Amino acid sequence: MEVIKFAVLPGDYIGPEVMAEALRVLGHAATAAGLKLEYQHADVGGAGIDNHGKALPDSTLEICRAADAILFGSVGGPKWEKLPPKEQPERAALLPLRKAFNLFANIRPGLLYSDLRDASPLKTERIPNGIDIVCIRELTGGIYFGAKSTITLENGEQQATDTMVYKTSEIERIAEVAAVTARARGKKVCSVDKANVLETSVLWRRTVTAYFAKHHPDLALSHMYVDNAAMQLARDPNQFDVLFTENMFGDILSDEMAVICGSLGMMSSASLGTDKNRFGKPYGLFEPAGGTAPDIAGKGIANPCAQILSAALMLRYSFGQDALATKIEAAVRKTVTVDGIRTGDIAFGKPVVGSKAMADAIIANL
Ligand code: NAD
Repeated sequence: MEVIKFAVLPGDYIGPEVMAEALRVLGHAATAAGLKLEYQHADVGGAGIDNHGKALPDSTLEICRAADAILFGSVGGPKWEKLPPKEQPERAALLPLRKAFNLFANIRPGLLYSDLRDASPLKTERIPNGIDIVCIRELTGGIYFGAKSTITLENGEQQATDTMVYKTSEIERIAEVAAVTARARGKKVCSVDKANVLETSVLWRRTVTAYFAKHHPDLALSHMYVDNAAMQLARDPNQFDVLFTENMFGDILSDEMAVICGSLGMMSSASLGTDKNRFGKPYGLFEPAGGTAPDIAGKGIANPCAQILSAALMLRYSFGQDALATKIEAAVRKTVTVDGIRTGDIAFGKPVVGSKAMADAIIANL
């Protein structure tokens, strides 16, 4: 029996609740597919601070290093809000994890089932079949990581500088992630930049064009300026299949996409690293796009779908189990749409169930 080994970092508030349900679903799916799951839990975020004095304890990092992927919940909440910014759970846990595993590509499916169209702020006639796109964001380069400074000028004014930097190799590796993702979907990729203004974007566009011409000539590549992309996402999101872009543009566009897709309870994400795991696949961290939802924590009512769909992404990207991932995704879709099983965040007049009943229904559909 093939063994897949991953670290489980549930985090805070609803994190452990939805993680428990995701592990149950994963367990059922894996057993049926003849896979053995081997996973170890570790504290992170507020739980790390409370139990080890650190948002990312050394012992947690060790468990992650011994694994082939990380299944992550979410971290933070009111209990730790008064800590200095540097010690805040999100910043002190997620950023070092990204760094430790060179997580350079963030993949967010923008998926809204047609039955959940009402969750979107877009007019339903604009998205008659819901939304099904993917946004890929470069995560370790660009203006967030370039040199920064604040100086005082001779006239006493303050001047601040941030630097946007990209190397060809950084652009090529994110282009490859976009290509692989598009190949498994509609074979259509849109690269987003600001090549009419920024040098980094000129290099980005030139590199992407050359990379696709050489390695993926069969994929339909287009380019779009970021200001236009922001408008097009709101006007007609399904004109995109896979869109990919640099760090800051991706930060903004992926959040816009999350909003038009409605409930955070349905939104999964994957962050892939440069390192390969024992399966020859990218080491990755897989987590819901939303936060710890302190307002509903402890009640057993959080939507576990985002965590379950994140587990499916882990199977696909870090373990090469595409068929099994697709099976889980189909079970979630059927449960929510055909069966109409809904947690409160996506109820829209349907009877509301709790996290456990939602996971039970997904398991039944598996
Ligand atoms: P949030 O995403 O936790 O919640 C926003 C709203 O969405 C809330 O009404 C919440 O109930 C709802 N929601 C989110 N996930 C849900 C789910 N699975 N089921 C049903 N409803 C769900 O955002 P917030 O309230 O701004 O942040 C709360 C905490 O989470 C903060 O401390 C923040 O820093 C942290 N956070 C962590 C991450 C992360 O770990 N990656 C990401 C975002 C926010």
